[in-house]
Amino acid sequence: MQFSKLRLTGFKSFVDPMELVIADGLTGVVGPNGCGKSNLLEALRWVMGENRPTAMRGGGMEDVIFAGAATRPARNYAEVALLLDNSDRTAPAGFNDQDNLEIIRRITRDAGSAFKTNGKDVRARDVQMLFADASTGAHSPALVRQGQISELINAKPKSRRRILEEAAGISGLYQRRRRS
Ligand code: ATP
Repeated sequence: MQFSKLRLTGFKSFVDPMELVIADGLTGVVGPNGCGKSNLLEALRWVMGENRPTAMRGGGMEDVIFAGAATRPARNYAEVALLLDNSDRTAPAGFNDQDNLEIIRRITRDAGSAFKTNGKDVRARDVQMLFADASTGAHSPALVRQGQISELINAKPKSRRRILEEAAGISGLYQRRRRS
């Protein structure tokens, strides 16, 4: 299972529909300060079910919706779609019946977030479990935001342990599921 495309509409500074192709190998995003590089990483976390506004550098989750600019009005919703290539059929059970998997998250002002996988309404938890089963997700240690390396070096042993547990695939989500 491979990430193949990220599509954004009205998400933070990406007011017009924008598609990022994630090809085989390394994909780099290059640009001047403030052009939206971190917003792209946040969009990836968000579509995988991130539910902490602080992880989106916002006060509330609706802060991810394009807030308007001098020449453009604010939007009423934000949407991020993540396309996965599943032609090797390695997606977790329940999601493994098609060659392509499209996960969509949309947030509408005053109505909250809704998720879909291949056009079907699903719960946030279903999407979080899909990525946990694929050993990735909004809290994956593979997603490293700006400043995180120095935080890790300076972290207390307990926080460092949490990161190592996530990397080893024994994160909180799995521990909760085992108990339920
Ligand atoms: P840096 O080089 O500082 O890391 P960056 O390229 O990662 O910057 P981001 O921090 O991702 O850039 O993008 C910040 C830009 O996104 C800012 O111009 C900010 O005003 C804009 N932005 C963030 N949220 C919204 C929003 N809801 N509506 C409109 N613009 C937004």
